[in-house]
Amino acid sequence: MFNKILIANRGEIAVRIIRACNELGIETVAVYSDADRPSLHVALANEAYHIGPSAPGESYLAKEKIIEVAKRSKAEAIHPGFGFLAENEGFADMCEKEGIVFIGPSPESIRLMGDKVTARKIAQDAKVPLVKGSEGAVSDVEANVIAKKIGYPVMIKASAGGGGKGMRLVRNEEDFEGSLRMARSEARSSFGDDSVYLEKYIENPRHIEIQIIGDSHGKILHLFERECSVQRRHQKVIEEAPSSAINSKLRRKMGEVAVRIAKAVSYRGAGTVEFIMDQEGNFYFLEMNTRIQVEHPVTEMITGIDIVRWMIRIAYGEKLTFKQSDIKMNGHAVECRVYAEDPEMNFIPSPGKLVYVRAPSGPGIRDDSSILSGSEITHFYDPMISKLIVWSETRESAIKKMISALREYIVLGVKTNIGFLLRVMNNEEFQKGDIDTGFIDRHPDLLTPPSIDIKPALVAAALAMRNASNEAEIAKEKPVSNWKLLSRKLAVSRNNLL
Ligand code: ADP
Repeated sequence: MFNKILIANRGEIAVRIIRACNELGIETVAVYSDADRPSLHVALANEAYHIGPSAPGESYLAKEKIIEVAKRSKAEAIHPGFGFLAENEGFADMCEKEGIVFIGPSPESIRLMGDKVTARKIAQDAKVPLVKGSEGAVSDVEANVIAKKIGYPVMIKASAGGGGKGMRLVRNEEDFEGSLRMARSEARSSFGDDSVYLEKYIENPRHIEIQIIGDSHGKILHLFERECSVQRRHQKVIEEAPSSAINSKLRRKMGEVAVRIAKAVSYRGAGTVEFIMDQEGNFYFLEMNTRIQVEHPVTEMITGIDIVRWMIRIAYGEKLTFKQSDIKMNGHAVECRVYAEDPEMNFIPSPGKLVYVRAPSGPGIRDDSSILSGSEITHFYDPMISKLIVWSETRESAIKKMISALREYIVLGVKTNIGFLLRVMNNEEFQKGDIDTGFIDRHPDLLTPPSIDIKPALVAAALAMRNASNEAEIAKEKPVSNWKLLSRKLAVSRNNLL
């Protein structure tokens, strides 16, 4: 096995990878920016190297600096995590040339799947169902004609897009020209490439994705599906496995299709094939992500397979020791992304210092985080505080467990989406599994807190503050009959802490 691995990332995914390395007896090298000097991934790694200012371009995206640290620290491999350099073909290539193992697929697989237009072609050749759309990138002249042929509503998508960015929905012909212009200019400024393609817009689809894993000896398996339909701004907030909309026949079919796509690019490592599924259960290829995904824990919880550990073993050249029929699905897992953001203000990030944080725990509860009391959520990076994952025997009991866990979660100092997540978990349609990508838009009521939600949070916060500041006075207020009074007291004691 490798002796030492460098983790070219930060936050919870860096911590997740360091833990996997510890379990495999591998030494770890962290890299960090100015803002991340006092952070958990730095504290947990065996060695840590400062690589530059907080702006990602000068640190976590600085390929040469990272390679240099890998060489200096004698790391034999680099795990890129997700985001940053994870799907950067040039970086994977540089690693190879420098004799450092890139823990992920080959630069060629990244290249083929990185461009959405090329990925669509590969899927088409592999006889994978595709959303109706343009053959490839479109010029301004042909775009209008093709859009009419596909039929409105259509989606304009950036070929180089990702992370929910670079997409525009156009409902009718009058809006097309203006939208195309804006889509191109957004694509140019976000991705440095203004080529776009068109896709038929599927109304209220579900987002279903298949986790796949392949070794470098030609074996590629799937680890079933994840449902990621609860999204804001085309970005996932709640994920679960299995999906309540998939039966075993469809699961097998989607799994086979995903493996077929992965085989078409000789895939190695962990990857995800994403589909959208219409109300009739027809599914269409969206894209393939050639990296570990944020939501991988729900798959780990229902299969018992440690995906990150396997990524490392595969990169070392090991063979997968199990076959498709050995992989069993057990129970149900749900993940909530806990963000420092304000759902009432269109989910804008709410950076700041976390005065006090206490994550829930208990049987079947996993909190993947790198945040501690005193940590800071900065505007430089994604404002995710943690990923809260629960496992239980059924979907119903998993939701109940998530409600209980979220009620215990205390984050003081910044606005969070915890109340919003709780309201989704308590929503009748969500509980029935009646979800699609339009779920949040259809329920604006979920964005604003009714006072009833505040009570348990305040009780929890009161207990936390009492412990933190020894305020015996607050204890007298239990049970909370007047939360306004309590909140005033909390504001006082929070100021004391600051
Ligand atoms: P990204 O790479 O930016 O994540 P994707 O192509 O994976 O972009 O799409 C992200 C989300 O956007 C999907 O989960 C879905 O909610 C929505 N979406 C994408 N394409 C379509 C489409 N043709 N019709 C309806 N919704 C779509």
